[in-house]
Amino acid sequence: MKGVVVVGSINMDIVAVTNQYPAHGETIFGENMKLLSGGKGANQATTCAKLGKPVKLIGAVGDDAFGHEIERSLLQNNVNISSLKHVAEHPTGCAVITVDATAENTMLVIKGANEHLTRSDIDICFSTISDDYAVLLVQMEIPNEAVLQAMKRAKEKNMFIILDPAPAEGVTTEALTYANLITPNWQETKVLTGIDVNSKESACKAGVFFENHFGVENSIIKLGHKGALVYQNGETNFIEPIAVKAIDTVGAGDSFAGALACAIADGETIESAAEFASIVAAMKVTKMGAQDGVPRLAEVEHFCE
Ligand code: ADP
Repeated sequence: MKGVVVVGSINMDIVAVTNQYPAHGETIFGENMKLLSGGKGANQATTCAKLGKPVKLIGAVGDDAFGHEIERSLLQNNVNISSLKHVAEHPTGCAVITVDATAENTMLVIKGANEHLTRSDIDICFSTISDDYAVLLVQMEIPNEAVLQAMKRAKEKNMFIILDPAPAEGVTTEALTYANLITPNWQETKVLTGIDVNSKESACKAGVFFENHFGVENSIIKLGHKGALVYQNGETNFIEPIAVKAIDTVGAGDSFAGALACAIADGETIESAAEFASIVAAMKVTKMGAQDGVPRLAEVEHFCE
């Protein structure tokens, strides 16, 4: 079975639940606090592992309690972390999130160790990757030099390269030219193309834009509860949304990307991989947590029966 290499961010999310936000200089008491493993790279790798796929995560953590806890949870989910970098001088990346009763939130991200993944770290990791890995999945929450080097090394190995262009503000033209497939949501599509995707026609226009301006032949534009659009060679196919009762959409796109990478590693077409990904992402939004909420393969099979 061919595996997936994920190169990306690893964070601890500190989620504080409160009825009110403190004003500058003020101290107030909140309701509750939870620690959740996060970061796009870790979320996507965990998805692949929960779907039963061999997956190697390349990323960086600090040598601290959050880093140790994240490693424990990645290992428990069967993610191969043998290439993880340990950065002694910087903390594990974290997001300090405040959520109120209306589900509005504020988020302060400390990149920490994520910012210290270098080109040479990528080279060292890729020198240990066997031909059993068919797909590279990468996003933009780590330094651009690491993203580009991973894409170059994957191309040398004839791996299929999926770029999840998030956050879109950091995406470079060079990164786009290395991608076989990109998976922006509608907001990222707007940043990258200037096109408001609100119909099949506008999604097709965005797909054409990605192809003509950046040489990206395949794109999947994710539309949240409205489903997704697959663009390939001038044609757009709509992936119907799966009707579910959503309770937590955080990490929907990460579960979509992870599942997509698994199906492509299995040799599926992009369209049928997108159909599988939309089932996995729909199941994820019915549960809490960007990693805990991702279904295992047996649950997906049961859902599809
Ligand atoms: P991102 O998390 O990157 O912003 P989206 O919110 O567009 O991405 O979600 C990614 C995919 O997850 C969608 O294309 C869809 O397949 C699925 N999805 C997201 N929200 C829902 C929902 N409420 N119901 C069903 N599927 C959903």
